[in-house]
Amino acid sequence: MSRDLLYRSARQIAADVRTGKISAAEVARAFLDRIEATDGQLKAFITLSPIAEPPNPAGPLAGVPVVLKDNLCTRDVPTTCGSKILRDYRAPYEATVVTRLRAAGATILGKTNLDEFAMGSSTENSAFFTTRNPWDLDRVPGGSSGGSAAAVAAGQACAALGSDTGGSIRQPAALCGVVGFKPTYGRVSRYGLVAFGSSLDQIGPITRDVADAALLLQVIGGPDPLDSTSLPDPPPDYLNQIERDIRGLRIGLPKEYFGEGLDSEVRARVMEALKLLESRGATLTDVELPLTPYAIATYYIVAPSEASSNLARYDGVHYGHRTEASGSLIDLYARSRAEGFGPEVRRRIILGTFALSSDRIDAYYHRAQRVRRLIARDFERAFRLVDVIAGPTSPTAAFRIGEKAADPLSMYLCDVYTVSANLAGIPGLSVPCGFTSSDLPVGLQILGRALDDLTVLQVGRAYERETGPMTRRPPLPAPSS
Ligand code: GLN
Repeated sequence: MSRDLLYRSARQIAADVRTGKISAAEVARAFLDRIEATDGQLKAFITLSPIAEPPNPAGPLAGVPVVLKDNLCTRDVPTTCGSKILRDYRAPYEATVVTRLRAAGATILGKTNLDEFAMGSSTENSAFFTTRNPWDLDRVPGGSSGGSAAAVAAGQACAALGSDTGGSIRQPAALCGVVGFKPTYGRVSRYGLVAFGSSLDQIGPITRDVADAALLLQVIGGPDPLDSTSLPDPPPDYLNQIERDIRGLRIGLPKEYFGEGLDSEVRARVMEALKLLESRGATLTDVELPLTPYAIATYYIVAPSEASSNLARYDGVHYGHRTEASGSLIDLYARSRAEGFGPEVRRRIILGTFALSSDRIDAYYHRAQRVRRLIARDFERAFRLVDVIAGPTSPTAAFRIGEKAADPLSMYLCDVYTVSANLAGIPGLSVPCGFTSSDLPVGLQILGRALDDLTVLQVGRAYERETGPMTRRPPLPAPSS
């Protein structure tokens, strides 16, 4: 089996399947073999899917092997959210994005690991196991879509879907050396995405190049009568417009994204990438996002508040795990939840319930909502001066498994450059921009105006065009030590 196939673009695989050079079944077989050879070490998958013949062998994703973060509902296999409470949950319906992938001819290979209910930045909060970083198995892949990013980086899948509430597509993409895109809020239907923070959640692609991200977005995006927050207008043809000359493009560099806490090697790689864009005619301008120091605090009020409300439905009666212990109805709720939820999810439910409680709601939730509005205004002001904003996706490269697990606050600080895009609803892309001296990938983040997903993708593509396709591959399977 050719290793080349495992790293071929979705565009190429679909073209080869459409012209009959290779069959969808042969492609699927190659990727399943790769999963078998590597997933004992990588642990990206919670469930493998039964492979059905793709319904559309002429579609834009004909035969393209895609994996799904396990908070996207599928009918054929369980949707666990990385939680004991949903361990055996089988959704009675399928997420709109999954239906659209299948209609486009994609082959769904399986469901990938995540932090429980997408709460985390490392997959260490999964109730089942921690996914490894394919570049260094002792390190985290990032999170919460860590299984999806690791699988794409390791050639176990050509592309993946993740969800991003505060960075969960972009940060694992950065840490695994792949492309991750969080679209404008509303661009992609959330129907069938298990809700975490409904006003922040957005589904997006994880791929190995920007054009594939554009292709996937085109397939999954667009209005959906089943999600009232989905945008009414059809998305533009991203893929056909992806090539653009960046001469005259104004790139804003927020000084708040290059300050204390940023690893020096990450800073160096990101600056090299920005200088490259400058040498091709873009202009680099300093901009200010003065509310940045409040972004983490704001996010960690808004997201847990919405989570505490969204997760109220897991009560041992409607869904999922029910305690064996007998007692009153209240005991049933309390025990089922205590047995089913892990520590981080419990922490967030408690934080959110507190922030929404009648005598605290003004001091916490309402105030956070006002700051959220100001954060959005920071971006509106900056986007009067520049076309996109760029900086690092994550302050550090992949950290060691266990390094931050005991200190929730240090984990929350990983999200410092990503949460603002969710609070403001704007699109954000992470593109690989080189490696640290310990051979760990670094991600460049590009943020754009609301609804201007296209420009963000074009800038990412322009960078990629200059550097050429990534030829480095993760050392997998790794020799056993
Ligand atoms: N790391 C962030 C959190 O823990 C973001 C998670 C996400 O985007 N789903 O909430």
